[in-house]
Amino acid sequence: MLATLANVRFELGVAQLAQLPPDRGREIAFAGRSNAGKSSAINALTNRRKLAFVSKTPGRTQQMNFFRLANGTYLVDLPGYGYAQAPGGLRREWGKVIAGYLQHRRALGGLVLIMDVRHPLTSLDVSLLDWFTPTGKPILILLTKADKLSRGEATGQLTAVRRQVAQRYPTCIVQLFSSLSRLGVEQAQSWLAALLAQGVQAQGGPQ
Ligand code: GDP
Repeated sequence: MLATLANVRFELGVAQLAQLPPDRGREIAFAGRSNAGKSSAINALTNRRKLAFVSKTPGRTQQMNFFRLANGTYLVDLPGYGYAQAPGGLRREWGKVIAGYLQHRRALGGLVLIMDVRHPLTSLDVSLLDWFTPTGKPILILLTKADKLSRGEATGQLTAVRRQVAQRYPTCIVQLFSSLSRLGVEQAQSWLAALLAQGVQAQGGPQ
C-alpha cells in the first residue's frame, strides 16, 4: 500500500461552488456513470471497505465528496451521472457546479474516469472527455469489473478503448481494473501517488 493513499477520511460534501475548499494544494477527481463501480474503485484504491459509500448516503449522492489523504491532498468523488440522458445532457444533469469545478479548478491535478469494461465510452463518458481534455490535465480511464470477462475479452476491450481514445484524447491512459480481484489496483495507485506527489512538491512540502 502506498503511503500517499493511507489514512484517508471523509472531510466535506460540496453542493455549491462557494462551499469548495480553497483552490490550492492538489486533488484528483473521480467520475463515472452511476453503477459503473466508482465507489468500489475508490475503496479498493484506498484499501478501505466502505469509505466511498459515504457518497451514497442520503443527501450526499448529488454532492462532490472530498476525501482527505494524510499528506493534505484530496480525492474528490463526483456524483455519478445517469445513463438514460441524451448526449449533451451531461452538463445539465451535473449542473454548472461540476462543470465549473472540472474546467476551472487549479488544484485539480487530473481525473480518474471509471467505466464498466463491458460498456465503455458511453455518450456521456465521451461528452466528459470532450470538455475535460482541453484542460490538458491527465486522465486515467479504469475499465473496471474486468473480472466479469475472460482474460481474452478484457484485453480485447482494453485494446479497443485505447485505439478509440488515442487520437482524440491524447491525455488519457487506459487500464483494466477490478475492485473484486484487485486487478490493476497497484498500477492505478502508482498513477495517483505520482500525480499527488507533484502537487505536494509544487507547494514545497506537505501542508
Ligand atoms: P458506483 O455507483 O459507480 O459507485 O458503483 P458501485 O461501486 O456501487 O458498484 C456498482 C455495483 O457493481 C455493485 O453491485 C458492486 O458490487 C459492483 N462492482 C463494482 N466494482 C466491481 C468489480 O470490480 N467487479 C465486480 N464483479 N463487481 C463490481
